[in-house]
Amino acid sequence: MGGETHLYLGKRYRLKILKGDRDNITLVRGFFLITVNGNVIFEKIKALLNEWYIHKARKKFTEAFEKQWSYFQKIMPSKPRIQIRIMRKRWGSMSKKGLLTLNTDLIRAPRECIEYVVTHELCHLMYPDHNSGFYKMLGKVMPDWEKRKHKLELALV
Ligand SMILES: [Zn+2]
Repeated sequence: MGGETHLYLGKRYRLKILKGDRDNITLVRGFFLITVNGNVIFEKIKALLNEWYIHKARKKFTEAFEKQWSYFQKIMPSKPRIQIRIMRKRWGSMSKKGLLTLNTDLIRAPRECIEYVVTHELCHLMYPDHNSGFYKMLGKVMPDWEKRKHKLELALV
């Protein structure tokens, strides 16, 4: 398990596991430095990492959302709510009632890709389908969206 690598915001980090006073994860120069209080058990490390990813996803997705929302707030009636969860087949969705759902796994992708997914879903507030109006809006708000989408496709393989 020590040699494994894990992605975070598009970068790979190796696991370094130590015994410590408490359970903790920090990123130190290319490493996920994980300290474990007690025995080093695979399930415990996995749970710690999951918890860490969810915490970071909540923080980073909210940042991306606030940043991208600034382009939409003048034309949109109300601000969507945001939630994160594991999604099997998609990176995000926007409900008719204005609930933006983002896939927790997206935290492994580069920041510009997260911003692309958020922007794509925000355009769905105005245009539920991928019609010409949708793409016109997306292109206006994020002119380099195709590059970001392509990067996302390559980022997590
Ligand atoms: Zn879409």
